[in-house]
Amino acid sequence: MALRLIIDMDGVIADIYAQYARFEASESGIKRSCEDLKGKSESEVFRNLREYLFTRGFFRDAPVIPGSIPALKELNAQYDLFVVSSATEFPQSLQEKYDWLQEHFPFLSWKQMVFCGSKAIIHGDIMIDDHFKNLDSFSGRTILFTQPHNDGLPEKNHVRVHSWQEVLDLLV
Ligand SMILES: [Mg+2]
Repeated sequence: MALRLIIDMDGVIADIYAQYARFEASESGIKRSCEDLKGKSESEVFRNLREYLFTRGFFRDAPVIPGSIPALKELNAQYDLFVVSSATEFPQSLQEKYDWLQEHFPFLSWKQMVFCGSKAIIHGDIMIDDHFKNLDSFSGRTILFTQPHNDGLPEKNHVRVHSWQEVLDLLV
């Protein structure tokens, strides 16, 4: 039986940082460099972050993280793949995330899209996520996808990757 692979959305296939930066720039004109963001939590850097997260279109218009579309296509052929996203904190994101996945990842079925609250309930063999809080409670193999907030922090028992090519090198 194929291994169950759990893939996060925000910060793994959806470029949420690009959205934070875009919203902040249009609001205040602030332009962030990568160094401003390194190792700091998202809410520490982007003061009005929660407002952005509740703005219509925030999730729907997020850019796709480079390489994720062909990578998921390939992994989908080999694994029991699920995209799992903590979404219920921002209820308006549910439809947006569904529409976003339909547009960019049309090869995934609705059965493979899991919108949840806490990911502590999620079980599988491999998890790819950018947040320690999700990886730390997962019982299987864990892959930390580098994003500015985790950049430079110790990986603990997780394997760090910087790109989707690195994920493929590990899993295919
Ligand atoms: Mg994430």
